[in-house]
Amino acid sequence: MSNLEVKTRNGVTHTHHRSTWAEIDLKAIEYNYRQVRKHVGKGINIMAVVKANAYGHGTVEVSNALERSGVDYLGVATTDEAVRLRDHGIKCPILVLSSVLPVEVGVAVEKDITLSICDEELFDVIRKESARGGKLKVHIKIDTGMGRVGIWHEEALNLVKKVSAESGMILEGIYTHFSSAGRDDFFTTYQIEAFEKLLSSIEKNWIKIPLRHAANSIATVDFHRAHLNLVRPGLVIYGMYPKHTFPRIIKLKPALELKTRVVFIKDTPPGRSISYGRTFITHKHTKIATLPIGYADGYGRKLSNKAEVLIRGRRARVVGKITMDQTMVDVGHINGVKMGDEVVLIGKQGREEIRAENLARMAESIAYEVVCGISNRVPRVYKY
Ligand SMILES: *Cc1c(COP(=O)(O)O)cnc(C)c1O
Repeated sequence: MSNLEVKTRNGVTHTHHRSTWAEIDLKAIEYNYRQVRKHVGKGINIMAVVKANAYGHGTVEVSNALERSGVDYLGVATTDEAVRLRDHGIKCPILVLSSVLPVEVGVAVEKDITLSICDEELFDVIRKESARGGKLKVHIKIDTGMGRVGIWHEEALNLVKKVSAESGMILEGIYTHFSSAGRDDFFTTYQIEAFEKLLSSIEKNWIKIPLRHAANSIATVDFHRAHLNLVRPGLVIYGMYPKHTFPRIIKLKPALELKTRVVFIKDTPPGRSISYGRTFITHKHTKIATLPIGYADGYGRKLSNKAEVLIRGRRARVVGKITMDQTMVDVGHINGVKMGDEVVLIGKQGREEIRAENLARMAESIAYEVVCGISNRVPRVYKY
């Protein structure tokens, strides 16, 4: 066994003196993208959401793969994320999905980054910046019931008129976001109806907005009425299911595996306590293995005494509290476990599989948080 060698895109090799890593399968990302493409059909644009380091998968690598696959648009959360993509040669249009502060407008104009606009103040700043440099593309964000950024749908028409009349700006899109897609059909329908109503009053005013969008992953898979002419999937691009019923509708491949190796193992008699707070006591003679991963890597404390890992194709349970850098598992029932054995925390080994969705349920969380939470300390290894 050697150190973990990670080759970056420009051919530089980093050696990591630590055996915990996340393996990202870019072919799976491309596969999931194609599945979404097939599902929504031709004529509908796809904006893949790559915010938060592409849900922990690595923004630049994922965006490159999606750009090669022909994605129409990329969605990020911050101007910083968009700038990073531009600086790494991404040419595809990029929309910042959140509201930004006026200080961020300059760089957006300079790097051809599309901004979301939801109030007059930002509108004024963009107008002034655009007068100095090139034109800025904007999407107006409408709040139909998310209660986050966005102008309330009843008040939006005036802003739409102003933006469309402004020569220094290109009004390219308009969108809204669901607060309860897949959980509250009544409210989601209310939201899409409010949005449709606004769209038709915009049309009555002879204003043409090329891109109209609302659908996150859930609505992309299961609410066709919200497809309009662009969908904004995030989670499904990474191969995770936002609802347990979705595998029947669309087939996805998880793109991320989280792995480590056994660094230490010892025989442990009955009655010994494991880890901080002594929340686990051995009740028989067993073997306890230590793994070099902890909550500082994003393997959360809520998984303590609950999660399982895969070793030699078998399941082993986490025992005791997960610590900052180390986690203990009971391997008494698995023959021949030794130092250096590969351990899967998320992913497949033999016939067993642990999915991010499973860990999320145990941690009383959501798959989103599990993958976003995998920290920078964990090297990403790419499979092309
Ligand atoms: C994060 C986000 C998405 C993607 O959501 P998923 O549930 O991951 O598909 C879409 N639109 C907006 C505005 C978002 O913030």
